[in-house]
Amino acid sequence: MPFFLLALIPLTFTQIDYSRVVEGWPEMELIETKVSRAEASERCRKTQADVCSGTSGVIFITSCYQWNFDQKKAWIWYSRDSDLEHERAHHRGHPHVGEGENSVMACYLREWQAKKAKAQ
Ligand SMILES: [Zn+2]
Repeated sequence: MPFFLLALIPLTFTQIDYSRVVEGWPEMELIETKVSRAEASERCRKTQADVCSGTSGVIFITSCYQWNFDQKKAWIWYSRDSDLEHERAHHRGHPHVGEGENSVMACYLREWQAKKAKAQ
């Protein structure tokens, strides 16, 4: 079951671009859970290495947004209240500032749509 995530990484792309919404971003059920910083780091790191985010290795993570297009479900894991709005903005389809058309979210969505089209 494909399962995607966006982690909040301090220093790079931490600002939400409220002027932009990823086209076709689906509505999904959202589950928000506050956890300790250690747990956030653990949960958010698991599926970190992938083609869209291009990130791998250990980074300092305080919150993340995860989703499953097939299940139409999304999860926010956060350890600081200040991160919650950021992750909620992703849930509404907002990418990060500076990502342009090729945001990580748009990339995941395209990959998923391509796979779905192939399966039909
Ligand atoms: Zn983010």
